[in-house]
Amino acid sequence: MKLHLSVLFTLLVAATAVTAQAPRTTAIRAGRLVDPAAGTISANRVILVQDGKITAVGADIAIPQGAEVIDLSKLTVLPGLVDAHNHLALTYKEVPEHNVYYLTYVLDSTPLRAIQAVSNGIQMLSAGFTIVRDMGNNGNYADTALRVGIEQGWIPGPTIINSGIIIGAMGGQFSPTPEMAKDHNIVYPEYLDADTPDEIVKAVRQNMLFGAKVIKICADCKPWGYSVDDIKLVVHEAAKAGFKVEAHCQTTAGARRAIDAGVWSIAHDSGMTEENHRLMAQKGIFRAGTETPISLTGHTTKARYERTVTMLKNAHDLEVPLTFSTDADYWVEGRTRGEVAIEFIETWKAAGIPAPDILRAMTTNGYKVSETEKVRGPITVGLAADLIAVEGNPLQTIDALRRVTFVMKDGIVFKRDGVVTPEKFFNPGPVKGWRIR
Ligand SMILES: [Zn+2]
Repeated sequence: MKLHLSVLFTLLVAATAVTAQAPRTTAIRAGRLVDPAAGTISANRVILVQDGKITAVGADIAIPQGAEVIDLSKLTVLPGLVDAHNHLALTYKEVPEHNVYYLTYVLDSTPLRAIQAVSNGIQMLSAGFTIVRDMGNNGNYADTALRVGIEQGWIPGPTIINSGIIIGAMGGQFSPTPEMAKDHNIVYPEYLDADTPDEIVKAVRQNMLFGAKVIKICADCKPWGYSVDDIKLVVHEAAKAGFKVEAHCQTTAGARRAIDAGVWSIAHDSGMTEENHRLMAQKGIFRAGTETPISLTGHTTKARYERTVTMLKNAHDLEVPLTFSTDADYWVEGRTRGEVAIEFIETWKAAGIPAPDILRAMTTNGYKVSETEKVRGPITVGLAADLIAVEGNPLQTIDALRRVTFVMKDGIVFKRDGVVTPEKFFNPGPVKGWRIR
């Protein structure tokens, strides 16, 4: 292509003008600012934000001329919350499937579920969850589509750490008919069959290729399950690309094998015992216990709930790294997905866990299990400007988190005065780069 010199010059001048324009500063006046890692709260802080990142935090920060000032002086500002285990592209419900998610997979297509995921992500963000680990059961990679859509700038949503398709021995969590299992026409996007070492390696690579950010396996969904060596192979293959592994465990023996193989995190609490907790604490394995509260009628039983509370308390006493995780993948009429997720604090309160420790599980440990702590999470200079605000003090009363009235994500206001204002997040193209995959 030929280009006249004067045209080239004009283009260069235009390009320089764009880069020369100073990015606008946003200044947030925080009445109180919580540091969940330290468990402290301080009064009258100013946070400066530029280009989506925090550039200053402190008491004596001068607000630059021309800065947009956001007055949260009557509120408590804290970093965004993390749900370490959800399935945003899955919404099972009483009607028509009687909360049997096996049927949801047959009834709802992946494209429909991807649209649900966008809606659920917005609902989670509105409740203050700025990071969600989306751990499988998302059809044919609807979780990757959600993550990429958010990262490219098409839609608002939490930062998504997604697992792709759950890898397990043939059938996964299902008991499929031979027609389903052999023909793979219905339901089968839900699990990647991997029974032999070759299949395990291939399944891990497939998920990484199709946009997963963490690997999820079913350690013991079948009586034969995965051996310690099988799980070690998963961990080894994932580590080649710097990926961590979460194991779904539903038995004590399965959890023990996952612990011995050195997984990053364990999902669910049914395989948890005092002995397993001790080993997890020793090895620093994160616990994503998915502790369903009894108040979510129909989603747990009294006996199961009581065991959940006892084991959560035991894990806290033994200093297992605790994350806040919900597995809230169903519809509760009258509540948003985010409101269902926040309801899980009830189990933590019932276990007698002090509010600062609950908040730490929902923030500090959430960033660690998501591996975002160096780029996103803490309200620290240089990190992404993700923050929320509430009335009251969540270090005293964790229920303060039930009413998040302000949400900022990547320096853009998503919710203000309790009202979601997402228009700046909706872009008609990949404004943050099409190369994000
Ligand atoms: Zn789950």
